[in-house]
This record gives sequence, structure tokens and C-alpha cells, in this order.
Amino acid sequence: MLGVGLDVGGTKVLGVLVDSAAPGTVLAEERVPTPDGGSGLVETLLTLARFLSAEPLSIGVGVPGLVDHQGALRAGAHLRHLRDVPIETELRARTGVRVEVDNDANCHALAEHAAGAAVGADDAMVITLGTGIGAGLITAGRLVRGARGFAGEPGHMIVDPNGPPCPCGQRGCWERFASGTGLARLARDAAHGGRLDAAVALAGGDPDVVRGEHVTAAARAGDAESLTVLGELAHWIALGLANLVNILDPAVIVVGGGLVDAADLLLPEVRTRLRDLALAGRQRPEVRIVPAALGERAGAIGAALLANQP
Ligand SMILES: [Zn+2]
Repeated sequence: MLGVGLDVGGTKVLGVLVDSAAPGTVLAEERVPTPDGGSGLVETLLTLARFLSAEPLSIGVGVPGLVDHQGALRAGAHLRHLRDVPIETELRARTGVRVEVDNDANCHALAEHAAGAAVGADDAMVITLGTGIGAGLITAGRLVRGARGFAGEPGHMIVDPNGPPCPCGQRGCWERFASGTGLARLARDAAHGGRLDAAVALAGGDPDVVRGEHVTAAARAGDAESLTVLGELAHWIALGLANLVNILDPAVIVVGGGLVDAADLLLPEVRTRLRDLALAGRQRPEVRIVPAALGERAGAIGAALLANQP
């Protein structure tokens, strides 16, 4: 069955048309800028869905933030100006077709479970390490949604109460450490401490502008200081994963997002540190940690599946 999936990002909305019988294959896709404001968002989603299919049979939408069981965006994460937008109700009223709306990371997890790196694993976590951290937690083959629909936000687990402030209002959330933002902060700290000369040179000599890609490029060239910073990042990633493993006992952890470009440098160290940090980590069967398989379309594919399941 053909369905449209729309993935709302901070700057763009990515739309795909997929057949639920072969969810890994995208039949059509299109991108448009993310509009500013709730009513503009619904209009944009409608236009994009109709562009992809004149009469779509179903429309799924993934949005960053807390989405309730009625498909309303209750609080935006990075789209902080968006609040209490009844996306599902409005889209259904305008189209008359089946519409489902969920958190974007939940959609990503559905896609990896159906057609990506978590196929066959009914207890899986899909963790997206980008600017922040997104997560979709699957137990016994189903997404963990919680009483209100707000479950699965481990990026805001507080791992250091005295840590750096988070846009959510707390301090020391996991995503302040184990994300692209966290890597940039670790890199700047190291650079100001005079410990990261090769990466600073790649950044043009200014320790304040050194970013994750400078560190990974220097690490690939064999720079020991950059490898040390990536080791610190791997520690923070493993620390949060250990907390999640202790709670959910997954068979596989799928890691996606921008940091997955450095998966070959990071994941071996994350696996080692997870064995040190998880409860009985050296006695329990190893949790597989693998890179995401579906790339940037995963959220949109998962959104299509959301609204296109029997
Ligand atoms: Zn937070």
C-alpha cells in the first residue's frame, strides 16, 4: 500500500512516498523549508503530501518534540515556537485519509526495525546522535510510548547535575555530552588546554572554532590527542547507553545521526566502555551496537510506516 511519510526537521521537511510491502525503497521524495509557526506547518505538510501523491492513501508525520497519543505536538524540541499543534486532527480533517503523527526519533526507530539495522530484533534501541540526542525504544516489537506518548527521551537523562545548561532548562543532560554539540565542547575544552593542536590547525588556528569534523579528520590522520577526545566522547555515549541497557536490556543498539560518520572511530570504544559500565557488562551477552542503515530518509520512511500498517 502506498503511503506518504513526512519528516519535520529544524530547517527542512523531507517527504517520501513508499510502498509498505517494500519500506526500504523510496519511490519519490521531496524537500521543502520548515515554516515558522503551527498553522503554516500543517499547510506545508499538506502541500508536500499532495505533491508526492495526488491522492495519498495515508500520511505519517514525524516531528521533533513531545507528541501525544492524539498526534498533537505538545512541545517542540528545537522547534520551540511550536506548542499544542493538533497536527494529526487537522491533517485528517483536510484530507479524509488515515493520518498518524509521532516523535521523529520514534519514526526513525520504526524504519530501522522494519527495513534497517534492527530487523529481527524485537528489543532494540535506535539512538540518533546529532545536535542533540533522539531515541526510539522498542520492546517486545513495539515502540515504548508511555502514558501520554512522551516516552523515549533519554537525551534529557541528567548525567551530571553540575553539567552545562541544556536548552530544555536543566543542567547536565546526556545530550550535552554525547552528541555533536558535546563533541564540539570537549574539543574546545581540549583546545583551550593546549591539547588539540592538529585539530585546531585544521580549524584555521582558532581554538574557539574547532568542531567535531576537525577532530575526526585529525583522528583519522592518526593524531593521538584527537583520538583521546573521541575516547572521552565514547565514554559519555557508553555511560548513557549503560543506563538504558540496565533498564531495557536490548539485543541491539542502532546508532544514527551526524556522529555516525565517525562510527568506525567511535563504536569500538563505545562497545568496550559499555562492557565496563553496564551491570554485569562482562558477564551478560554482548549488546550489539551497529550504525544506522537507512541514512537521512529513515525518519520519513518510518513516518510512512506509522500510518501504513495493517
Ligand atoms: Zn535537557
